[in-house]
Amino acid sequence: MREKCGIFAAKTENAGRKAYYALMALQHRGQESAGISVWKNKIRTLKGKGLVSEVFKGNRLKQLRSNMAIAHVRYSTSGSLNEAQPLEAFCCGKSIAIAHNGTLTNFLPLRREYERMGVRFRYSIDSELLGVSFLRHFQETGDEFEAMKRVFDEVRGAYAVAFLFDGKLIVARDPVGFRPLSYGEGDGCYFASEDSALRMFNLEVRDVRPGEVFLVDEDVESRILTREKKAHCVFEYIYFARPDSTINGINVYRARYRMGAELAEEDDIGGDVVIAVPDSGRAAAIGYSHRSGIPYEEGLIKNRYIGRTFIMPGQFYRELKVKLKLSPVQEVVSGKRVVLIDDSIVRGTTMRRIVSLLKDAGAREVHVRIASPPIKYPCYMGIDIPTRHELIAAWRSVEEIRESIGADSLRYLSVEGLKKAVGIRELCTACLTGSYPEWAFRF
Ligand code: SF4
Repeated sequence: MREKCGIFAAKTENAGRKAYYALMALQHRGQESAGISVWKNKIRTLKGKGLVSEVFKGNRLKQLRSNMAIAHVRYSTSGSLNEAQPLEAFCCGKSIAIAHNGTLTNFLPLRREYERMGVRFRYSIDSELLGVSFLRHFQETGDEFEAMKRVFDEVRGAYAVAFLFDGKLIVARDPVGFRPLSYGEGDGCYFASEDSALRMFNLEVRDVRPGEVFLVDEDVESRILTREKKAHCVFEYIYFARPDSTINGINVYRARYRMGAELAEEDDIGGDVVIAVPDSGRAAAIGYSHRSGIPYEEGLIKNRYIGRTFIMPGQFYRELKVKLKLSPVQEVVSGKRVVLIDDSIVRGTTMRRIVSLLKDAGAREVHVRIASPPIKYPCYMGIDIPTRHELIAAWRSVEEIRESIGADSLRYLSVEGLKKAVGIRELCTACLTGSYPEWAFRF
């Protein structure tokens, strides 16, 4: 599972350069492309494929001197460089730059409607539609807030979005707040997908509220334009966001720690040592250890330096890749009943190899504990989840998954335990329960 994007926007001195640093802090949300648009009496965009440090090499940042910028990191397995963001969209004689995190659920019917009205789209991805919708409604109303209100009425799905338009920033979070978005105030105003990308600028930081729109011109004005039942993506807490981020008032590390503690509360296995799959399972493993009283140790070591290694096809090389990435600490696991914690199981292939590594290192028993419920359904709100066919929990029972991964026992956190651990009830849990937030599909 992968997050598709991270966004940033700012009006401040050296906004283009600050965007570069903020994108580095958001790199975990997308590694396939990066881009920055600035305002220089018109939109100027630099973007490319690769990591932020690769895209903005040498003197490129000098071309982005401006006090107003929007920026984007993207993960995608498809699409061309043209579809790296920020995108520039055109409609009604005006242009707009767009940085969008999320996915629009009514993209295809709405795009067809716009095409019938004569709008010509330049890209195949949904983000362009957000900008086109705004430009059309701005032409009708002449008012940015009124135009955004109509965008909220028209465009369904997940969007944390920043527009650079006519020397202004317009930044908004969809009415149910699927994707996170933070606002920071200090020597200017800043926005980012996660507050951890803003704190380095020494700002007063808070969440952008669902349905809230900011207009940044000479002044900063914000309004909440619509209220819906909130549905914050629970996977931001389980896996995607940085542990040092605070989203919707909840610190991500603390939420993960509590997921582990709840898992221990629901469990009765015992064991000699708790270990984590690094780094995704660490906070939950510490929580599990503290609640169960079973000592926590580092039983698997991650190689941080192999990057995107080219692996030859075939079973031997696939196993070699896992061994290169993760190595068991024999002294910690040998002869022990190991409780192994991770945040989730998607296809089951990685977990199967990890269990086998631990057994080869002499673990007497391996009890796998997952700090979230089984993932059974696809996401239509901006997260890249494999198809149902590939999701092991969509078509196998817990016992069948246990057998498939070779563990001595397997247990998942319950949905109720997860909600209790996060500490807010207004969550989207659709990929776990199949119950999709109503607003996103009301069209
Ligand atoms: S379906 Fe899952 S991944 Fe998608 S928004 Fe909801 S909780 Fe997040």
